[in-house]
Amino acid sequence: MPFEMLIMRAYFAGIQDLSSIDYPGHMCSVIFFQGCNLKCRYCYNFKQQKITKKTYLKDILEKLKKNLGIIDSIMLSGGEALIYEYSMIKIKEWAKEHDLLLGVETNGTFYGRLKKLMKKNVFDFVAMDIKSAFSKEEYKKITGFSQVYKAFEKSFELLKNSGIPHEFRITATPTLHSLDDIKSINERVFPSKLIIQRFQPGEGVLDKSLNKELFSADFIKELKNYAKIHENIEMRFWD
Ligand code: SF4
Repeated sequence: MPFEMLIMRAYFAGIQDLSSIDYPGHMCSVIFFQGCNLKCRYCYNFKQQKITKKTYLKDILEKLKKNLGIIDSIMLSGGEALIYEYSMIKIKEWAKEHDLLLGVETNGTFYGRLKKLMKKNVFDFVAMDIKSAFSKEEYKKITGFSQVYKAFEKSFELLKNSGIPHEFRITATPTLHSLDDIKSINERVFPSKLIIQRFQPGEGVLDKSLNKELFSADFIKELKNYAKIHENIEMRFWD
């Protein structure tokens, strides 16, 4: 099959037609890709990461057409969207034709690809996951991998200093993250924005033992107090 045809296909998990959360300040459609190179214990839709069948990009974009006029942006999510480097470029061309902004949510482990795509101005907004306190050992405890930690740190510094609109996101999870972890993460993130999302238990969570764990009332209170005095922090899904 010609290369051009190959890059026009992607493993695709679905579309969320409308979201006002994923691309801050904008109404977007979210394209979810399948597949991920990490195994985060708190991943809430791990089953969806299983690769099933390839879909033509043109079919994905055709589905998006009905949202034109309502949305002003597209957000690419996963799994890990940067697995599909070439699809990103094609989606950007389509977004430009339709006067839409393009954002991506990434785990930051594909440093080379991120750097290349940012240089080509493919993304108008980047959200990057922070999995743990900044150490290889902590990163491995949560994601299962340490080899990609260096790439993640390079992506983190690249994005933080890029001037591209961005935010960092952490899924605070009982037993995996302490208040000290979150404080140390925010020291590295500041003055960029840090979104602290609350772990959502459920059947799809990779490590089911996490479903039984709860944050203590004291932890939540202290975290909220900490967030209150740090303007760069936004708490999400805590009320
Ligand atoms: S949480 Fe994100 S990075 Fe982690 S395994 Fe799930 S999809 Fe991959």
